[in-house]
Amino acid sequence: MRGPMPAPLVVQKFGGSSLATAERIRHVAERISRARGDGADLVVVASALGDTTDDLLRLAGDITQDPDPRELDLLLATGEHQSATLVSMALHALGVKAISLTGAQAGITTDGRYGKARIANVEPRRVRAELDRGNVVIVAGFQGQSGGLGTEGAGNGTSEWVETTTLGRGGSDTTAVALAAALRADRCQIFTDVRGIYTADPRLVGSARQLGTIGYEEMLELAQQGAQVMQVRAVELGWVNGVEIEVLSSFEDAPGTLIREDPLVEQRNKVRGLAHDRNVAKVTLLAVPDRPGVARAVFEPLAEAAINVDMIVQNVGHDGATDLSFTVPRAELRRAETVLNPIVAELGARGLTTDPDVAKVSIVGAGLHNAPGYAARMFGTLADASVNIEMISTSEVRITCVIEEARLEAAREALHGAFELARPDPVDAAATARPA
Ligand code: ASP
Ligand code: MG
Repeated sequence: MRGPMPAPLVVQKFGGSSLATAERIRHVAERISRARGDGADLVVVASALGDTTDDLLRLAGDITQDPDPRELDLLLATGEHQSATLVSMALHALGVKAISLTGAQAGITTDGRYGKARIANVEPRRVRAELDRGNVVIVAGFQGQSGGLGTEGAGNGTSEWVETTTLGRGGSDTTAVALAAALRADRCQIFTDVRGIYTADPRLVGSARQLGTIGYEEMLELAQQGAQVMQVRAVELGWVNGVEIEVLSSFEDAPGTLIREDPLVEQRNKVRGLAHDRNVAKVTLLAVPDRPGVARAVFEPLAEAAINVDMIVQNVGHDGATDLSFTVPRAELRRAETVLNPIVAELGARGLTTDPDVAKVSIVGAGLHNAPGYAARMFGTLADASVNIEMISTSEVRITCVIEEARLEAAREALHGAFELARPDPVDAAATARPA
């Protein structure tokens, strides 16, 4: 038991670029040591150093075209073992008590799907015990274990053996949020190489402005639509568990962005940010017969081939035929064509056209669904910038256009200006002024 004034419990996650060299690891350790000195109990989640995960994937690819998913997960998990142990050693060197744990040792169990496992449960008894011993607990991100006696879903079909699984690219974010939820942490901080969440990618839009606060739903759309700052699953998990997440820079002492339920949403600019995604290709089936069962004949085989179909547009039919367009991730276009070619023939469609040189650009904001005029303003802005819109889709909090990739830059600049995203929301002043 702790005393009457328990120390705040903070989960901090450091991304790969924050840990890319020994010097950066020491810098991170100093930062952790300062937070410890301020009296916090700390659980630190570490990503693999720099580009380690990419390097390991490349190495496996050099050995075989088709690496076994189980072996690949066991291999990739070592990246985070390296970083967790090195951060722990760097803390020891500063005289800070610390211990590193693998995901399994930290009590993180998963559903057993190699390469894209979901966290099934967090049993943080060991983490608590180490905190009670006065340790900073460093947890290897991006991984958990499945199987073992008494648990379901081991990858090899039995439940007797323990397997290591990874959580998908960027999964250390999810490790951090899951631990924060399980430990009922007071704060969950994601340290990265940018200061926080911006109205648009600051490397691409000069006038992009950092947001003080953003709602879960808006952040989820931004992440899904291509903003790379946080893993989508981590935002979902934060939303479901009500974990307030702070995204902030590991390189400078500057206030970050809070992701949380946003009570001021009504008073804000209805558009909070832009997102874009270049990993898109467009597929059109020309003059497919307009009769029941056609959509199933097209999309069932794509689903069976695990191809992610996104925006779907079916035009009004003429003379019993209709065009059917949709988008897929660019890397999956080849496979989609292979699946679709025989279907085009079977259905008696006129043909199949594909375009890999498209991109998606989205405006995102929680107030969009009941604010008339925003769609029109988006389309008008793109027209004025001579950007042709090829497809449109909307959700409660987002409007997305598929455009020619070459026009993406022009589209982003024009939309950032038209929706006045460079101008601070009056209500943000208070949020930005809060203590870091
Ligand atoms: N190291 C893993 C990756 O690069 C997980 C992470 O960084 O969160 O995807
Ligand atoms: Mg990484």
